[in-house]
Amino acid sequence: MEAVLVRLKTETMEKPSFSDGAVLEEGGALMKDGEELRGAEGGQVDRQTPRKTSSCRSSRKSFRLDYRLEEEVTKSCQTKNGRWTNPWSTWRFPSWSMLLRFFLLDKNNSNIPSVQDLDHELPVIKPYFVQNPDLLDPDPGLRVTWLGHATVLVEMDGLNILTDPIFSQRASPVQFVGPKRYRGPPCTVEQLPRIDAVVISHSHYDHLDVGSVASLNARFGGELRWFVPLGLMDWLMKMGCENVMELDWWEENCVPGHDDITFVCTPSQHWSKRTPLDDNKTLWGSWSILGPDHRFFFAGDTGYCPAFQEIGRRFGPFDLAAIPIGAYMPRDVLSGQHVDPQQAVQIHQDLQARQSVAIHWGTFALANEFYLEPPVLLREALEQKGLKPGSFFTLHHGESRLIVSQDSGVFL
Ligand SMILES: [Zn+2]
Repeated sequence: MEAVLVRLKTETMEKPSFSDGAVLEEGGALMKDGEELRGAEGGQVDRQTPRKTSSCRSSRKSFRLDYRLEEEVTKSCQTKNGRWTNPWSTWRFPSWSMLLRFFLLDKNNSNIPSVQDLDHELPVIKPYFVQNPDLLDPDPGLRVTWLGHATVLVEMDGLNILTDPIFSQRASPVQFVGPKRYRGPPCTVEQLPRIDAVVISHSHYDHLDVGSVASLNARFGGELRWFVPLGLMDWLMKMGCENVMELDWWEENCVPGHDDITFVCTPSQHWSKRTPLDDNKTLWGSWSILGPDHRFFFAGDTGYCPAFQEIGRRFGPFDLAAIPIGAYMPRDVLSGQHVDPQQAVQIHQDLQARQSVAIHWGTFALANEFYLEPPVLLREALEQKGLKPGSFFTLHHGESRLIVSQDSGVFL
């Protein structure tokens, strides 16, 4: 077993200053006070509905890992004006001319076909917990269900964990304009099993969705713990979430009553934005979830950077990693913030993941590659590196897979 993690209460750390690059402008603003709140499926959400707990458990209090390991890892960086930056030479942000070319001239090859073709190529399956809720009894292993884009349900070591939930039709501040999903969600928030924890990677609309947060909070209230990178707690509290844990990179915490499962906010190479002026005001990150029997890694949204080797050295091997494979073309514009399938396989290796599941593809057409290209290039990259196709797999929307830990002594 790995080294015992010494838990120490931490103070807010001073961050070194780095200068930032250009930033991408995007319209839209956060929900205004008094605005009617809509759930992920468009239904009205009653702000008073969430089950109340005895005390407010939102907290900046956190713990950090053993001092001896701290020297070896890359810390988060903030500029003097309070904006976060990426501390690696692999980070680049497109110039204004590149962005203009991308938005006005570059050909979009996504070619999303008719619904009939989509139903054939990318079928949406009702998850097992909708078809047969009796199967919810704990299995020997880690079960992953892909719910589209970067949303996965992970059942491991007695906890049900949801990543970057988006059940809405659009990744947008409003539901009448903005990127629309071409594959619907396989289930509603109401059909989900009990959710104990949600991890959020960053503030972009395809990862932090107002309607989904409202619906999850209406259903689970304070029984659900939200794990977010630094700066996002206020947003969630304004949404009425009362059980929020906000963490810096390498800080860790747990779900109350389950302190044998450690949630660590780990780095990723990305950026954040929800409103015209809030570029990089909130941190982004990946999540390493370390249980007594299983280890799961959620990459969120990321470009390739050296952080994954650090994470692999410290927390690997992982039983399962969820790694993005889509929204990567054109490379000169998007390579800083989105990996391509080949780089996704490199992350899989850096993390020492035994298996990985592909996310961030097949749901929203966010970039210019053909919509079915990511899994094809993924298979090619695995073959080139001599890895088995099953070591980094794709799932249908709504499909589940049971991952059995090599240490558990249980074989399928
Ligand atoms: Zn994204």
